Amino acid sequence: MEKPQSIRQWQGLFFSIYGARNDEIYSPSDILLHVIEEMAELAEHLRKEDRESVVKNIPDVFGWLLAFCNTCEPTGIDLENAVWHKYPSVCPYCLQEKNCTCISQELKYKDDRELLEKYRNRMKQKPFILDGWQQMFERIYGRVNKIKFQVQIWFHLFEEIGEISRAFRLGPRAELEAELADAFAWLVAACNKLQISLSEVTWQTYPGKCRTCLKEKCQCPVI
Ligand SMILES: [Zn+2]
Ligand SMILES: [Zn+2]
Repeated sequence: MEKPQSIRQWQGLFFSIYGARNDEIYSPSDILLHVIEEMAELAEHLRKEDRESVVKNIPDVFGWLLAFCNTCEPTGIDLENAVWHKYPSVCPYCLQEKNCTCISQELKYKDDRELLEKYRNRMKQKPFILDGWQQMFERIYGRVNKIKFQVQIWFHLFEEIGEISRAFRLGPRAELEAELADAFAWLVAACNKLQISLSEVTWQTYPGKCRTCLKEKCQCPVI
């Protein structure tokens, strides 16, 4: 199996390894609990300042997030679309294409802003490979994230996972999609802060097969 390129292909990879098994044994909320579990595990590594284990945990957070997108009813959520809708190569709050200036002002997100719609239609600006998305977020938020502590960035991801949970319970679906996009943005920001490639670390752990049973279609026993 080839290494996936786009976010959609990564989502497809996790569907192909785990989709059938997850459908059989887990509800969408079980899968969301897995996301929280992995994130909490990562928090423990952060507390112990164990960088290596933090990095090793990242593919699991990403993988379960993608599994959650796959399992959202009635049809899965396409994370790539959700991310582009919220972040069309600009910061959706201050509309800067690079070096977001939100820190100096209080700005509210308005999904229906006319200008945002214009940015969404500039499809040539849309990154294709996962590394390209990572570079896009670095261009927009790298400068402001440079002055933050790494834990602040991880905590922001945790905050977004909480918001995913709330949107999952209460809806509407557009809100859930926006929160998933935010979680992806902060996961990528954390990778940028660590100077690692999300696609590379994920492929190391999930090289086209389950990390545990090593099968292309996971056959792990239920635990
Ligand atoms: Zn901004
Ligand atoms: Zn397995």
